[in-house]
Formats: sequence, C-alpha cells, structure tokens
Amino acid sequence: MHRISRILAGAGAAIAAFAVTVAGALAHDVDLTRLPVGDGRVSSSPQAGWVWACRVNPQGGGAHQQGPWFNGDGTYDLTAKAIVPGNVMWNPKFSITEQGDSRVFSTNDLPNHGTGVYPIGRNTDAYKYDRNPNSISEQNISFTVPANPALASPGCAPGAVGVLISGSVLFNPLDEPGRDAVAWETQDRCQGHPQMTGVYHYHSVSTCVDTETLANGHSALVGYAIDGFGIFGRKGVGGETLVSADLDECHGHTHEIEWDGRTVDMYHYHATWDFPYTIGCLRGSYDASVARLLGGGGTGGRAGATRPNQPPRRQAPPPRRP
Ligand SMILES: [Zn+2]
Ligand SMILES: [Zn+2]
Repeated sequence: MHRISRILAGAGAAIAAFAVTVAGALAHDVDLTRLPVGDGRVSSSPQAGWVWACRVNPQGGGAHQQGPWFNGDGTYDLTAKAIVPGNVMWNPKFSITEQGDSRVFSTNDLPNHGTGVYPIGRNTDAYKYDRNPNSISEQNISFTVPANPALASPGCAPGAVGVLISGSVLFNPLDEPGRDAVAWETQDRCQGHPQMTGVYHYHSVSTCVDTETLANGHSALVGYAIDGFGIFGRKGVGGETLVSADLDECHGHTHEIEWDGRTVDMYHYHATWDFPYTIGCLRGSYDASVARLLGGGGTGGRAGATRPNQPPRRQAPPPRRP
C-alpha cells in the first residue's frame, strides 16, 4: 500500500505527478489509474455518487476524441491524462468579506497559481483529444451568499457551483453534453481551463488548492458553494481519504468544523477523487443568478452558441462552453 505521494512543485504551483494509489489513514484506497468514468451518472433528483444537473445540452461541445487514458472498461487513468502545458502567471484580485449575515465575494477569476497556455497549442498532446480554442480572460464577478447557510430541500447543480480560494470558479463535473468532464476534457496541471467567455474554471477541486490539512487530519477549507456552505478537500477527520460512498447525495456531510474561527456542527461539501468529485446537488438554497454570473453568462443572457460535438474537424473549432 502506498502512502500519498503527490509531488507538488511549491506553494500555489502545479502538480508534477500523481501517485498511482492514494491511501487513506483508514478504510479507503483510491486507485487513480482506475477511476470510474461518470458518464451517464446524471440524475433528475438527489442521488449519491451522481450529479443532479439542472441542464445538459446533448448538442454541446467538448473533447472530440476519447484519450488513451480511458481503460476501455468504464474506468480511466487520471495519472495518464494529457495535460495542457504551461505555467502562465496572472494577477488575481479576490476578496471575501463578511457583512452581517452575508459573505461577499469579489473576484476577477484569475487564479493565484499558474495555468496552462490557452488556447491549447496545436502541437501539444492535449490538442489531439480536446481542441479547446478558448483563452483565459479577466472577469468582473461580485456576489453574495449566506454567511451561515441553513439546510433546505436539495436543489439541482447548475453549471457553476462555487468558487475556490484560488479565486477561480468551480463548475459541476459535467461537460456541456453531460459527460464526465474530468475524464474527457483536458485541463492544465491545476485542473483548470477556460470556457468560451474566458472564465477559467475547474470541474473538480484543484490539487493546487487542496494542499492543506488541519490538526485533526481533516482537509482545510478550499472554497464556497453558491449556497454558502463550505467546500473542503479530500480528507475527513483522522486523515481518511473520502470517497463518494462516504458522503450524502449532494457530496457532503455534517460534523464539527472550523467556520469563521468558531467550531460549529455544520454541513459541508467535500472533494473526492471519484465522480462526481465535488458538489452533486445543493443542500442549501441558492440564487440562480449567482450561478449564471459565475458561469460567464450573467450579464447578457447565455454566453453564445456552442459548436457541434461531432465530427472532429481539421480547423480550429469555434469557441464553446463550458
Ligand atoms: Zn468533513
Ligand atoms: Zn470546463
């Protein structure tokens, strides 16, 4: 059994390599070379291990070809995925402030870590499978969530489900046609890429962000969902590596956590290595306009046309989302 040996290149930097097996302190070993592909695990009601998506577009764009990291048996090898190369540094502007019962966010969406070079270079491995033609661009996003959210009846996961403390947006785990975006799409070493209006985003919790562990072994806070609940990294209390089966239908659970400097018994989401990676649905109420804003379509309705998913073309395709 191997211990965790992800190699990090430094603070806020990218992953150089994944270990093959991630072992938790307790029960779970997660084989990163044989993660289940989440295609089809899209529900219309809350369901553990699935994502309850508000919408998918079967005609939407995405990777045009399955990469060789698919094992052919319903699993894929995360460690063998093509990575969009580069280490472009940005000037992030990100603030979180508490104002009464609200938590107020302002971000230009540019991350505090390096990114790959976008559009994806034609001479890269990643381009063979996913010709994402979009560039990263600065956004102007301000929004408010409850500082101390309450559980409500679950809601579907829109395209954008939160923001990570890197300053960049977290999308749900699906590409636009509703496939497992982490398995299909190519991303950079921090697992981010831009959609068609330039919004840099992740479909899982970036390993460049999920780097810290608290004294009790539990992962540190890595972001906030649009309902105001916290998103934490891949470890539970005692340092156990969590899997979807440990979590509820929205990919969270309730126990004592540190929240704004206090210890409270509170619901929160977790990242996992396995699908749906993060939020499967929302356990608190949320404002759909916040999700639209984070998704890049907030000011002028939808952000534009998509490209047909098939067949692959020789020319660079038009911009697409997500
Ligand atoms: Zn927890
Ligand atoms: Zn995406």
